[in-house]
Amino acid sequence: MTANTIQHHISDSLLMSYAAGSLPEAFSLVVAAHVSLCDECRAQLAAFEAVGGAVVEGEQASMSQGALDQCLARIEGPAPKGEPKPRRQGILPGPLAGYVGGDLSAVKWKQLAGGVRQAILPTAKGATARLLHIPAGAAVPDHGHRGLELTLVLQGAFRDDDGRYGPGDVEIAGEAVDHTPVAEAGADCICLAATDAPLRFRGLFPRLLQPLFRI
Ligand code: ZN
Ligand code: ZN
Repeated sequence: MTANTIQHHISDSLLMSYAAGSLPEAFSLVVAAHVSLCDECRAQLAAFEAVGGAVVEGEQASMSQGALDQCLARIEGPAPKGEPKPRRQGILPGPLAGYVGGDLSAVKWKQLAGGVRQAILPTAKGATARLLHIPAGAAVPDHGHRGLELTLVLQGAFRDDDGRYGPGDVEIAGEAVDHTPVAEAGADCICLAATDAPLRFRGLFPRLLQPLFRI
């Protein structure tokens, strides 16, 4: 996947937080998955990591060994160097394949409403990561956000008021965003979505189901 096909990228502030190891695991997973698909963000991340490393080297003289080790561990982030990179499995980027334990056929889907299915991935508390399967032409009910929502498209495409998101694209939706993502006709849309707070659904039915689906 090249920068030409990817239109929507991870923001610099998120890449910097990722490089510093300060993102919740669910958000780190989305960033790692996008970076594994996107040359542009991979290069940008490498630049931030280099800057972080230089800052640490400059501070070495005045830091205790313990503080230095902690700082280095933070900058190296969730995937310590030297570990083999997980391999891509079908449409699942390498970092995601490890969480699923295989390819798409290994995903244990649960029905939501309207034909939409989800699978919650095992990540640390603080934010939730889920795979979403939205049938072609179907919509995720109208909702707002109490925190941050990152959505990476793995297959198909969806549209909302902010644009069209195809494979590799990331939508970054904060508290100011209200949307009804609709999967394009043609292929079913499969996304990886991470949130750090419950969504704010407009409709009564999705609101009633919310606690059940942890969405
Ligand atoms: Zn990118
Ligand atoms: Zn949303």
